[in-house]
Amino acid sequence: MAEEVCSATYERKALVLPLNFMAATTSPSAYSRLSAIASQRSVHEAFGWLHLHQQQIMGWQEELVAVPAPPFHEHTRANWLLKFFQAAGLQGASIDEEGNCLGVYPGAEHRQSTVLISAHIDTVFPPDTPIAPRIAGTRLYAPGACDNGAGIVGMIAILHSLRHAGIEPEHNILFVGNVGEEGEGNLRGIRHIYNQKMWRTTIGSHLVLDGAGHEVAVTQALGSRRYLVTLTGSGGHSWTDAARPNPIVVLSRVITRLSKLDLSGTPRTTLNVGTIEGGSAVNSIPEQAAARFDVRSTAPEQIIRLEVELYRAVEDSVIEANRKSSFPLTYTIEIIGDRPAGSLAKESSLHHAIEAVDRHLGIRSEMRVASTDANIPLSLAVPAVSIGAGGEGGGIHTRAEWYDAHGRELGLRRALLLLLMMAGY
Ligand SMILES: [Zn+2]
Repeated sequence: MAEEVCSATYERKALVLPLNFMAATTSPSAYSRLSAIASQRSVHEAFGWLHLHQQQIMGWQEELVAVPAPPFHEHTRANWLLKFFQAAGLQGASIDEEGNCLGVYPGAEHRQSTVLISAHIDTVFPPDTPIAPRIAGTRLYAPGACDNGAGIVGMIAILHSLRHAGIEPEHNILFVGNVGEEGEGNLRGIRHIYNQKMWRTTIGSHLVLDGAGHEVAVTQALGSRRYLVTLTGSGGHSWTDAARPNPIVVLSRVITRLSKLDLSGTPRTTLNVGTIEGGSAVNSIPEQAAARFDVRSTAPEQIIRLEVELYRAVEDSVIEANRKSSFPLTYTIEIIGDRPAGSLAKESSLHHAIEAVDRHLGIRSEMRVASTDANIPLSLAVPAVSIGAGGEGGGIHTRAEWYDAHGRELGLRRALLLLLMMAGY
């Protein structure tokens, strides 16, 4: 859901610092490797392509946002992206069983090792959401314009610039437009990629493009678990059956108990009740009540602790309600989301590469914690980072969402350099 990434990436303006500010934290070997890459003529040509095609990239973005991609119904947009992958000659360009669009940009040395670049193609918007993209100056107004219109067209632009400049990296680059990043998609697209043996054993690192911005790098995966709690009873008439347990009342006790837990302190941990539903008429004891809970923490053990609290609160409240009743309530607790935690080691070559690219471009990435597609590789100890694709955005996950291409070029240069550091060139 890159909720956090997408809302975070546009908050800050570029923080341009003098080069010597970064000198102390940049690995000399990473920086000299980057300088060698950035000085190559072909890389300049790729930059040139990005510079000259800003208009075209915006045109693709306007076309893309009009192709709906609600959760679990991303196929039309996957097919839209497939045309680009096929036209660019990616090897094995296709749509997999989960609905991801993918293809390989072959490396020069035909090595087994692969670098993955991905952008999620799903949106949070239901199928009936009216979409009428509007461009004003450098700004595109449309639901999903930034999240993840920016990431998807950023990925396409990088592919074109590589092709145009004839760049042959050492390792293969796997391009993926993945499904299932938002909400209850539960990272199913990227999870599927890593469940395939051929990818799990060959992917050496992973770059996620999500939303706008060029000053944030999500290197820590915020873990989360989501639960649907459902209480079911016999129901009845509000007057004649008044003694029977009421699922709404019992669910309210569960929520009250959980809301009294002390979650202050570090590591930051949160518990939210996001939806509640139940009942059918004002003069009926409801047959059912249900609520959805979201638990988050950077520490896996805190998530487990809260899960235990949730189970106990439900069990105790139901047992208490059933004590004097011959119309017992039953309950189910269903896990509807599970995003594993993990983090990128500061000593990893990918971390050094991010700092080296920063120094080269005269920017500084703020390392952040969020829940993104990078959770999956990070939890599997595959070096991974989620970054914005440049520009700015706002109104994320609302119908008033917008994307501003001002500054996109810098963001795409950053992504391209990072990708070449990962893939070797
Ligand atoms: Zn996103």
